[in-house]
Amino acid sequence: MTGAHMNRWTRRSFLGALGAGALLSGAPMVARGAAKGRVVIVGGGFGGAIAARYVGMADPAIEVTIIERSPQYFTCPFSNKVVAGIMELDALRYDLKAHAARGVRVAYDDVVAIDPAKRSVATAGGKQFAYDRLILAPGVELDYAAVEGATAGVETVMPHAWKAGEQTLLLRKQIEAMKDGGVFIITVPRRPYRCPPGPYERAALAAHYFKRHKPKSKVIILDDDNTMPKQSLFLESWNKLYPGMIDWVTGNNGGKMERVDIKRRMVITTDADFPADVISFVPPQKAGAIAQKTGLTDVSGWCPVDPVTLESTRHKNIHIVGDAAFTDGVPKSAHIAGAMGRTAARAVVALLQGKTPPSPQYVNTCYTLAAPDYGFSIAGIYEPKGGVIAMVPNSVTVSPTGAPEYMRRTEAEFAYGWLRNIAAEAFL
Ligand SMILES: Cc1cc2nc3c(=O)[nH]c(=O)nc-3n(C[C@H](O)[C@H](O)[C@H](O)COP(=O)(O)OP(=O)(O)OC[C@H]3O[C@@H](n4cnc5c(N)ncnc54)[C@H](O)[C@@H]3O)c2cc1C
Repeated sequence: MTGAHMNRWTRRSFLGALGAGALLSGAPMVARGAAKGRVVIVGGGFGGAIAARYVGMADPAIEVTIIERSPQYFTCPFSNKVVAGIMELDALRYDLKAHAARGVRVAYDDVVAIDPAKRSVATAGGKQFAYDRLILAPGVELDYAAVEGATAGVETVMPHAWKAGEQTLLLRKQIEAMKDGGVFIITVPRRPYRCPPGPYERAALAAHYFKRHKPKSKVIILDDDNTMPKQSLFLESWNKLYPGMIDWVTGNNGGKMERVDIKRRMVITTDADFPADVISFVPPQKAGAIAQKTGLTDVSGWCPVDPVTLESTRHKNIHIVGDAAFTDGVPKSAHIAGAMGRTAARAVVALLQGKTPPSPQYVNTCYTLAAPDYGFSIAGIYEPKGGVIAMVPNSVTVSPTGAPEYMRRTEAEFAYGWLRNIAAEAFL
């Protein structure tokens, strides 16, 4: 069951899902109130908020606390539409009030230390939170240190807009102020990074804005890689909607970024200098800083996990959810963060009850808009196999190329529906 297909998140429907999984593993869930314990969740984005919903739903006797540094959350999904002036940022704003109303303890604070031995969390506000099980969902850290020239303040000149909010608005402002005939660059970092199709969607929606307001402008994608997700669909949409406007420079053709020059507003790649009027510099990424500080990451920069419970292989009793988890080929998406939130919730409740956690499936669905009324999608299923989370063979489905316009319009509507559903599951 995925957020997109679950219209009402009742305790009964979640327990139904638990029951189905539990039967597979021979470990049915225990009835209401049977377990007691403290679950602390760090990070109230898609992964953490969805985990909180289901721990509380599965067993109201468990005390659930979310610690989130920011009192308001802006979804990255659809933030490219804000950049392109198709949507307002306010439409993407959520908070944790509904969780508090359901009895979840919500603390707006910055977690500065986790002590896995003592099972406690310390915040910048001077509070300590003890836990039996911790769910850590801190999202990504932007790794500016990995790129030469990316000194402090680079994001004010070359906005990443890879965490939605002020950065999204800054990029939009720069694009709106750009002259007709100007050049907009977006950089694509080395994989894995949050939202693999995101940079290409940003390129398309920026082109949508330029086509209407500054038609002589150009969009250049400087890519670390040589392929992109949904490649034939992106190329088809660009040719159809924005002929000649978007240049995709692949890694082998000089797209690999080596350095940025803030003063000269320029990206320097292995082959050439790329000056631009506006640059969305998206740097390489790794797990959120608190995960690194706690020793939960490995050389990859991400947190290795058990594929069934999402428990860290580094520290016991800490489950990693969302973008921060190392999951090999599984895309870092809100949809997967939600699937992980549900998985961690099931695992934590089962473990607190002394049961065997059921084996999960992780479903991903990812919609892209190349224009407000032009959408396409990819979906895939992943499950534990050989100690990792592996794609289920033949499970990936992609929208067809050459589809009629009404199909693209319908998929664009599905995309809006997807966001409404997953945001409701996480925050309402
Ligand atoms: C442009 C763009 C478009 C996207 N579009 C899509 C899409 O269409 N579909 C899709 O599925 N995904 C999309 N994504 C990806 C999606 O946004 C992420 O995969 C998702 O947000 C991951 O959820 P998360 O819970 O792991 O992290 P986040 O959503 O980043 O949440 C992490 C939370 O933890 C908090 N936090 C971090 N550290 C601490 C700390 N020390 N103390 C307290 N709080 C802390 C942060 O404030 C944050 O609220 C997109 C991403 C981008 C950038």
